[in-house]
Amino acid sequence: MNIHEYQAKAVLAKYGVPVPRGGAAFNADDLVAEAKKLGGPVYVVKAQIHAGGRGKGGGVKVVKSIEDVKAEATRMLGMTLVTHQTGPAGKLVQRVYVEEGSDIKRELYLSIVVDRETSRVSFIASTEGGMDIEEVAHKTPEKILSLSVDPAAGIQAHHGRTIAYALGLEGDQVKQGVALITNLYNAFVTEDMAMLEINPLVVTGEGNLICLDAKVGFDSNALYRHKDIVALRDLTEEDPAEVEASKYDLNYIKLDGQIGCMVNGAGLAMATMDIIKLYGSAPANVLDVGGGATKEKVTEAFKIILSDKNVEGILVNIFGGIMRCDIIAEGVVAAAKEVKLSVPLVVRLEGTNVDLGKKIMADSGLPIISADNLADAAEKIVKAVKEAA
Ligand code: GDP
Ligand code: MN
Repeated sequence: MNIHEYQAKAVLAKYGVPVPRGGAAFNADDLVAEAKKLGGPVYVVKAQIHAGGRGKGGGVKVVKSIEDVKAEATRMLGMTLVTHQTGPAGKLVQRVYVEEGSDIKRELYLSIVVDRETSRVSFIASTEGGMDIEEVAHKTPEKILSLSVDPAAGIQAHHGRTIAYALGLEGDQVKQGVALITNLYNAFVTEDMAMLEINPLVVTGEGNLICLDAKVGFDSNALYRHKDIVALRDLTEEDPAEVEASKYDLNYIKLDGQIGCMVNGAGLAMATMDIIKLYGSAPANVLDVGGGATKEKVTEAFKIILSDKNVEGILVNIFGGIMRCDIIAEGVVAAAKEVKLSVPLVVRLEGTNVDLGKKIMADSGLPIISADNLADAAEKIVKAVKEAA
């Protein structure tokens, strides 16, 4: 789960991380009220969307008067901001943030991620912060330091010093850097973050460190123990179908191919996507109904898959271990009738009561194409979609 920049800064501030003073609002007048509290003389107006690259897309403006705060807020609110992270559709700006302006001397990059290779929390740091970090990583990877922390020993002062030196900090900034790095690590671990990115981390004219931008994502499996974080969720930033799926405890992932996939289990999802590609098509989405799917859940799953306009065919690939194949078949038949299925449907069932499951589908009178194994299923759905087109 991701949150907005202003929310991320508030979370980090609780851990003693230095961030500019600021206030958020849903309309220009309220933002003006926030700006007046700051006092000026320089303000930064920032569009709040769950994507970076706002600076280049016109979503970050440095201004010098309350009138301009109002003008920029009015311009940003309601606009669709397109950045290299939003995709071509862009994101609608519904919240704006105003901060006190900072005197920037240097822009640095600092992030924390979970490194799957080392199974550790890792820092990524670079002197080349600002708006082009992707290009730095691509063209001059030697300018990026990564450093992992042993979870048993936790964060140590030497981690902080190594990163501070790599960032070219000197004198008192090293001390500030060590404290900042320790505080960010503690925030990351305590709040079960999945990623934390400060870009830019700034050295001010006075020689102080301050986080000008903050992007934070949380591990959704740990949200049950962070009610205050869950309260920050902005559903309008998420894919509507993914939100709908989560209501029914279904895992839905939107992709960009033509074939909707209903599976149970992540491994089967991977295999199903691979084999669809092998047969020359691509998945439009994957919906994992999990181990304990009921008839109702399967029906909801169908509706969600079909709400995706790119779906030209559906492949159901279920292994009935705990789940019985006849229950799945009943769900598929009921759902296909309820949603008046208009695209080809291939079903591959395997496991407990598979013969009964196949009989239920065959007797339903619906044009359900039955498949015997994974390869057969993929071949059949790809062919059926081509013929229907
Ligand atoms: P992003 O483009 O979505 O990553 O948004 P950022 O919050 O990183 O802002 C983009 C850029 O705006 C930063 O890299 C800074 O150069 C600039 N910026 C942000 N805040 C301030 C500020 O307080 N003063 C000045 N002068 N520039 C700022
Ligand atoms: Mn940024």
